[in-house]
Amino acid sequence: MINHSLKELSQMLAKKEVSSVEMAQTFLERIQKYNPQINAYITVDADKTLTQARAADAVIAAGNASALTGVPIAQKDIFCASGWKTTCGSKMLENFIAPYDAHVIAQFDAAGAVNLGKTNMDEFAMGSSNETSYFGGVKNPWDLERVPGGSSGGSAAAVAARLCPAATGTDTGGSIRQPASLCGFTGLKPTYGLVSRYGMIAFASSLDQAGPMAKSAEDCAMMMNVMAGFDERDSTSLNHPKQDYTSELNKPLAGLKVGLPKEYFAEGLDADVAKVVDAAIAEYKKLGAEFVDISLPNASLSIPVYYVLAPAEASSNLSRYDGVRYGHRTAEYDDLMDMYMKTRAEGFGAEVKRRILIGTYVLSAGYYDAYYLKAQQIRHLIADDFKAAFKQCDIIMGPTVPSTAFKTGEKSGNPVEMYLQDIYTIATNLAGLPGMSIPAGFSHGLPVGLQIIGNYFDEARMLNVGHAYQQATDWHTQMPEGIE
Ligand code: GLN
Repeated sequence: MINHSLKELSQMLAKKEVSSVEMAQTFLERIQKYNPQINAYITVDADKTLTQARAADAVIAAGNASALTGVPIAQKDIFCASGWKTTCGSKMLENFIAPYDAHVIAQFDAAGAVNLGKTNMDEFAMGSSNETSYFGGVKNPWDLERVPGGSSGGSAAAVAARLCPAATGTDTGGSIRQPASLCGFTGLKPTYGLVSRYGMIAFASSLDQAGPMAKSAEDCAMMMNVMAGFDERDSTSLNHPKQDYTSELNKPLAGLKVGLPKEYFAEGLDADVAKVVDAAIAEYKKLGAEFVDISLPNASLSIPVYYVLAPAEASSNLSRYDGVRYGHRTAEYDDLMDMYMKTRAEGFGAEVKRRILIGTYVLSAGYYDAYYLKAQQIRHLIADDFKAAFKQCDIIMGPTVPSTAFKTGEKSGNPVEMYLQDIYTIATNLAGLPGMSIPAGFSHGLPVGLQIIGNYFDEARMLNVGHAYQQATDWHTQMPEGIE
């Protein structure tokens, strides 16, 4: 059961070969067995999960099931889920019980899916290795000495180790796609605004976007059918017509024009990763795709621009954690100011503090024009590069990450090196474009991802492009050894 697709699981439930309760139990047992080692979940609550599963079984018995009714899904601990501890990987929210559901959680609930638990993540989604989590790092199931990527590292390890059939993630600069590449599964960051951010704890609001993390493009399409949709509670939610993301999966790729940005194949790209990406391109040629060389001239500025804008927004978003309304409050203090300072000093980890300091600095009166305003201007240039590129091609392809999973501790002392993990993913967030990573092979036994970038709202085509490759190859079905 653990290797089945969401569609297969759904069919098994419909044919009553297995109940939702049994299915949830299978995964809960695996979590019990492997989570002490992998640390993919922060919160597991079998009672809550099984209550939902029983309700799903009743819906199935009554003949009212939809595609994901009864299927267990793991939720990144950034989504508020009513009655569930929602920590965002931080001491600040260690004991926070969400009083309401995020839009994403409510959508899965309405679809009858079962919440399998809350997954580990970098603190407030800041990181590329899951090492900034207050609840400890996550192990990469392909090599337990290595990181799973981040910030959605818990969801990533859970999908890779089959501790869930699929999971949700969020991606501000690469947090769905980079772990998908490092752990060998399929992850999609949708067009900004397609999935509501309501109830999703904010990091950098103009960049944050939720998306599916699953074994295949087909599974991601089924999850997108649940996740996408207009929500008036998020002022940046886009009123885009509902569509069926599975409807174009089997379209032939003949005539598809794919752009290869020369900046994504330049210095810094590991030679073995480049080989895997080249082989994937060769496969796409066999499938009928045509390739053109393109350029994204401002791509090299995306990391510096991001590390001005994201901390600026984070410093503002995180000002709400003041010990008054919710979350941690220091035990002893002299006056209000002392309470604020001690609470924030105790509640936030080092990386979060670094971002708050950078953010307040670039927004300060004397530096606003030099940093924040400049970064916003360059952000426009980056978006314009993509606009020009999509005049020459339908889809853009390249590596997701310059290298494979690194060892725990290898980059944690060097923030700039850590930030470079997202060198190929951040530009799409800055432009608001959708991006996806699919497994394309291995280098020294570690997974390598291929990135597929589409134009605004072109998720159905991207999933079609991913699915066609997954019909012709079996990289996405591989599972790490030692985790039976
Ligand atoms: N690694 C990037 C950061 O630390 C992106 C994180 C994310 O997408 N949430 O900001």
